[in-house]
Amino acid sequence: MLLPEKADMAVPSKKLVSADEVFMRHALRTAEQGMRQGQTPFGSCIVKDGAVVVRAHNQVWLTGDITAHAEMVAIREACTRLRTIDLSGCWLYSTCEPCPMCFSACHWARLSRVVFGAKIRDAQRAGFNELTIPVRRMKQWGQSRVQVVGNVLGEEARELFRLWQAKKNHRIY
Ligand SMILES: [Zn+2]
Repeated sequence: MLLPEKADMAVPSKKLVSADEVFMRHALRTAEQGMRQGQTPFGSCIVKDGAVVVRAHNQVWLTGDITAHAEMVAIREACTRLRTIDLSGCWLYSTCEPCPMCFSACHWARLSRVVFGAKIRDAQRAGFNELTIPVRRMKQWGQSRVQVVGNVLGEEARELFRLWQAKKNHRIY
């Protein structure tokens, strides 16, 4: 409902913010699905030309692969589905700011834009063994062309960590 209503407005920036929220909700919902299956509170989706290509939640505990962060899983799957290693023109939405590994993968995949909700610091506060290098600093140091937008539905993204911490038997890494 939100997207068509806002999309009718003539202000392009409003339209963009609205679309970001719609796609961020896909990532949030995917993270919730993962949590219900015993995974950690991270979700992503990749969008191309206004359509969702893939949604993925973190799969570290599911697969035993410490690199199976939501963004990594989403990038691998998007490359498979689109049959390319070049995701130019694609936007990645992530409930949490990508860690340095994931942001590097975004850069390697030539994603055009990365949109996130909560910050790396929020994940660190929830107990995750984060390298606390913000994506903006990674982008600057590495001179990446990936556009970065943060704090989209940030409060809802942070709420995921609270819900996850309230769960019995939640496992950190
Ligand atoms: Zn990561």
